[in-house]
Amino acid sequence: MLDLKRTDGGAVQVDDHGRTSVEGVFAVGDLTPGHSQIPVAMGEGAKAGIAIHYDLREFPKSLAELDGESVDPASTPAVSGEIREAARRRGESEAPATDD
Ligand SMILES: Cc1cc2nc3c(=O)[nH]c(=O)nc-3n(C[C@H](O)[C@H](O)[C@H](O)COP(=O)(O)OP(=O)(O)OC[C@H]3O[C@@H](n4cnc5c(N)ncnc54)[C@H](O)[C@@H]3O)c2cc1C
Repeated sequence: MLDLKRTDGGAVQVDDHGRTSVEGVFAVGDLTPGHSQIPVAMGEGAKAGIAIHYDLREFPKSLAELDGESVDPASTPAVSGEIREAARRRGESEAPATDD
């Protein structure tokens, strides 16, 4: 039994992204507070999916963090190469002009 926190009305208590009181357990749709309608359940499902994605992956939160030591490239696969390339290009375009 997960023993999820409930509202007074008996619905499963969630935050704005469908996170329940139990880490790693998300809930959306009719068993959560709000209107019991198909589009609501679909939207909540999409938001929860994005939150799960971010919870599972470690993204650098800023270009400064990306340049720092705190981000292990192995923990930021796939998009990291593109972000690093974009950061490199941005750095080049922002580099002060030289006289030579
Ligand atoms: C008669 C009726 C008419 C409706 N008409 C509309 C309408 O016109 N427009 C609209 O937007 N909404 C309508 N709704 C509401 C809409 O159906 C729900 O808001 C929507 O389906 C909620 O989606 P959900 O995924 O949260 O839950 P559900 O669609 O109920 O999905 C939950 C699923 O979990 C399964 N399940 C339950 N317990 C277990 C278990 N222990 N193990 C495994 N699986 C389990 C169920 O079998 C079900 O398939 C209507 C609802 C009803 C009852």
